[in-house]
Amino acid sequence: MKRVVLIGGGYGGMNALHQLLDNNIPKDVQITVIDRNPYHSLKTEFYAITAGTKADKEVRIDFPLHEQVSYIFGEIIEINTDRELIRLKGNEIAVEYDYLLIGLGCEDNYHGIQGAMEYTESVQSISSARKASIKVNNLSAYSQVSVVGAGLSGIEVASEIRESRPDLNIRLLDRGATVLSAFDEKVQSYVEEWFRKNQVEILHHSNVELVAEGIFYNNGEGIESDVIIWTAGVRPNYLVRSLPFEKDRHEKS
Ligand SMILES: Cc1cc2nc3c(=O)[nH]c(=O)nc-3n(C[C@H](O)[C@H](O)[C@H](O)COP(=O)(O)OP(=O)(O)OC[C@H]3O[C@@H](n4cnc5c(N)ncnc54)[C@H](O)[C@@H]3O)c2cc1C
Repeated sequence: MKRVVLIGGGYGGMNALHQLLDNNIPKDVQITVIDRNPYHSLKTEFYAITAGTKADKEVRIDFPLHEQVSYIFGEIIEINTDRELIRLKGNEIAVEYDYLLIGLGCEDNYHGIQGAMEYTESVQSISSARKASIKVNNLSAYSQVSVVGAGLSGIEVASEIRESRPDLNIRLLDRGATVLSAFDEKVQSYVEEWFRKNQVEILHHSNVELVAEGIFYNNGEGIESDVIIWTAGVRPNYLVRSLPFEKDRHEKS
């Protein structure tokens, strides 16, 4: 029996699994999927979880059932490519593999900014988006939300919170001269205009240097905020970053 282990049941993992199943895998192959969650979660909808505009159930999808596929739900803490095994938190017995597929996704990149990890909310996992949602949705009227990072995720988070909570003060911190720096001017002006009309303040040329409880420092100025959401970049999952393989400049193996 050949043991294929697929770690991470996100978009990439599910795509790989469906392709294997659609291609009639040989009978002597057994696939084990490992994920921390007992369902596939639609990461592209986590901004709506954060804003409270979608219910949890709407972003969860059951994993496919197949006689050659089994599932283990738990937190992966080690990928040992020398011994070809995966270790899970609280589980003495490791999962051994002959072939390994990795789809663990990415996590926030805090760029070494002190306090960013501790004092900001994340939208990178379903559990962190739920936590952010509780904070945002429990805010009293006129509270301040700050979204750090004006790429696609930051834009989605800020606009969805605005549509969900017209009473809140929302500001978006943008590192450059315009939001969505990777997009063309037409898209940039449309988005900027939408934020202007919907009273979302944009701070261009931002440079967040330090974050503490309820406050962050932008270009040397301390700015208070009831909730701070971090959407200022991602990097590969730490388990993948620690693999003993050559990495590119984005830390990908
Ligand atoms: C708010 C938001 C909006 C987005 N919108 C878009 C969009 O519109 N279009 C687009 O193309 N992309 C979008 N993206 C990016 C997109 O979600 C990612 O590119 C995509 O999810 C990457 O797929 P993946 O399979 O590599 O990782 P993921 O989908 O993140 O899957 C990783 C899986 O690994 C599991 N996992 C991770 N670590 C562990 C561990 N230690 N133990 C066990 N399991 C673990 C997770 O539970 C998860 O199921 C968005 C992202 C966000 C945050």
